[in-house]
This record gives sequence, C-alpha cells and structure tokens, in this order.
Amino acid sequence: MSHVFPRHCHAQLPTAVGGEGIWLIDSEGRRYLDGSGGAAVSCLGHGDAEVTEAIKAQLDKLAFAHTGFLTSEPAEALADLLIAHAPGELDRVYFVSGGSEATEAAIKLARQYWVEKGQPERSRLIARRQSYHGNTIGALSAGGNEWRRQQFGPLLLDVSHIDPCYEYRDRQEGETPEEYGLRAAEALREEIERVGPETVMAFMAEPVVGATAGALAPAPGYFKRIREICDEYGILLILDEVMCGMGRTGTLFACEQDDVAPDILCIAKGLGAGYQPIGAMLCSAGIYDAIAKGSGFFQHGHTYIGHPVATAAGLAVLRAILDRNLLPQVQSRGATLQKALESRFGQHPNVGDIRGRGLFRGIELVADRGTKEPFDPSRKIAARLKKAAFAHGLICYPMSGTIDGRRGDHVLLAPPFIISDEEITLLVDRLDAAMQEVL
Ligand code: PLP
Repeated sequence: MSHVFPRHCHAQLPTAVGGEGIWLIDSEGRRYLDGSGGAAVSCLGHGDAEVTEAIKAQLDKLAFAHTGFLTSEPAEALADLLIAHAPGELDRVYFVSGGSEATEAAIKLARQYWVEKGQPERSRLIARRQSYHGNTIGALSAGGNEWRRQQFGPLLLDVSHIDPCYEYRDRQEGETPEEYGLRAAEALREEIERVGPETVMAFMAEPVVGATAGALAPAPGYFKRIREICDEYGILLILDEVMCGMGRTGTLFACEQDDVAPDILCIAKGLGAGYQPIGAMLCSAGIYDAIAKGSGFFQHGHTYIGHPVATAAGLAVLRAILDRNLLPQVQSRGATLQKALESRFGQHPNVGDIRGRGLFRGIELVADRGTKEPFDPSRKIAARLKKAAFAHGLICYPMSGTIDGRRGDHVLLAPPFIISDEEITLLVDRLDAAMQEVL
C-alpha cells in the first residue's frame, strides 16, 4: 500500500520512470504523449540535456544559501535576463517556488504598497469569475472557480469577482470583437465605482485563461482598456501568467500580444519547465521603490525563495527558449495545432469553440453546438475524457469550470514547444479516439 497522499484518493496511478522529448514512460514501459505538458509545465519536453547539465553543475557548486544572508549567481543572472525581456517598467524579480506562491506574493505586495503609500484603506482585490490563481488561501480567494473555493468560504479574503471576457458566450449579435472587448472591460469600472475606488488595491487577471476556461484569449482591446481603467483610478494591474507565460502563447509573455504591461507579473510553470519547482513575481521599479524608501522590508518570504538550483534551472530554460529561437516555433506549431483541431473537430456536434494562442489551445465541449448548452455536470465529461485519453496514451487537461452556476467542460492542450508536425497529428488522433468513446 502506498503512503503517498494523492489528490484523488481512489486513483490507481502508474509510476513514471522516464521521460524523452514529448513522451513520459511508466514502469510497465507504456508511453504517454504529454499533450498538456502536465499542466502547461513541460515547455521544453522531458530529458533536456542542457537544463539537466545546468542543474548538475549548480549542485556541484552550491545547493543552498539562505536569501536572508546571501544572494546567488544563478538568481542574479536569471533576474537580469527576465528583466531584459520583460514588458513595460518591470524591474525587480522576487523568486518563489511555484504559481500559488507567486500570486500570493503579488497580493501581499500590492497590499503592502498601499499601506506604505499611506492608503491603508485600499485592501480590496478585484478579479474575474472565470479564473484560477492558485490554491493557497490568498490565491484561492482571488480565483473565481466555485468548485475549488466552496468549502473554504469563511477563510477567504474579501475579493470582488467581475465577469470574464468570454467572447464565445457573451459577445452579442451585431457586436464586433473590438466592441465586445471594450464593453467587457467596463465591468471593472462598474465594480470599482460600486465598491468605492479608494478601497481597491489591485485588479488581477490571467491574460489567456487556462485551467478554468481552456485557453481563453481576450477580445481585442480588452486589456488595453483594463489598463486605462486601472490607471484612471490608480489601481495596480496584476497579470497572472503562471500558465500562459514563458513563451507558451508564442511571445515570452502573453500580455505582449495585447500591448499592455502590468505593474506586477506572476510566472511559474514554464519557468522551471518541470526541471525544478520555481515561480517568480516581477514588479515595477515604482512599487519596489515605495517599499525600499518606506519600511525597506517586504513583509513576506519562504525558506526556499531564490533557491540556487531552481534559479539555475530557470536560467537554463529561459536561455533555451531564447537561444534556440523557440518562440517562432511555438507560433507556427500552434497554428498547425489549431488547424488540425479545426479540421478534425470543427464540425463536431459537441464542439462549441476551438481557441487559444501559440501552443496553448482549448476546445469547449457543449451538449448542443447550436444553443451552446453545456453538458449536464452529472455526465462528468471532463473527467471521463481525461481517463479515456490516458488509456489511449495521451495526457491532456480536460476540466469543468463553474461560472455563476453555468457549468462548462473544456480540454486544454499545451504540448512541449519541441512537438513535431507528425506528433501533432498523433496527438489529435488520440484525442479523437478518446472523444469518440466519451461523446
Ligand atoms: N495561476 C494560474 C493561472 C495557474 O494556472 C495556476 C496553476 O494551475 C496557478 C496560478 C497556481 O500555480 P501552482 O499550481 O504552481 O501553485
């Protein structure tokens, strides 16, 4: 009997023993095509020799030095390289061990910023209903996924949730995507006015929504208007690129494609690419300076922040993305994947929408393509599809999301950037086989 506490208590999980490129191998020798990079993590695939070597070299040199006493070479080099490629005024990098830690740190930094600026009444965060920002209490408070939140109610922070930008469901007849984008962004202004602008510290959103929506990109102009509204009211903009950042959408940061820069940016998953647990929160010089010139101390921290081996891995991953020129490859393979999905499932009666950017693609599954009626939750479409795909040797990421009682199912695909055209065909074949079994 296993003594590991798994998330699904009754799951009988195979044991992973190896990884090669886009493949994972279990102890029985079965091979799984990693069509979602786990949960959009393994952007370089498995067994990358350069990243592995960089980790080994760092271990030979120095495994750990507590950041309360010392900084380290890889942490400094990774921060420099991230800032050299970061949008806008982002100037400082706070390293953590994963996505929830990054968003948690972002929420606390926003709060401390306003306290230090002499506006302690700014304590409210505004976020969106269709979002996931992590599983620790602060991050869970920010997220809008009711299924994940419901039993933790009394512990959650006071957060306002506004409607997401969800063109497939909410754009009205006769409205252009641009008009819809501007209208959707106005939900933020309305909420700020409703709760009182002087009480709001920040707005937080995923540029391309991952786990709760299946690669849902914003309508054109949405985030530009969001940025304008934040500026108008002096509210910080926090973008959560834990899933969609690090090249996943075809640019290093997804927000580049929306021509906006946040005050605080969260990354994780693809930063360590599965080789080490690492995340980061990037903030503007203005925010950093407010703390530096105020108390001089960010009231936050974990033992393993800025871990030398994790930052060495992150540095090797970022160098690989840049030096191997993987971003254009993500764009072209992403277009190939989108085309393949459209030609296979474009007319499927249960496929409502096929969407995304780069190698971050989603399929929204519906009971009725014409009315967009979601499946009844009792059919457990997402869970069954995950199981069926796995049996066909495909790892993909089907999820159900709950928004205001509306329930939807989708499949998220986020294969490693090194996936070939032939492997894309194989991925789609296996997904097709699983969908035929379940739908
Ligand atoms: N933010 C987003 C957008 C995510 O998708 C996730 C994880 O899926 C998180 C935060 C939390 O990251 P982690 O699971 O590394 O704590």
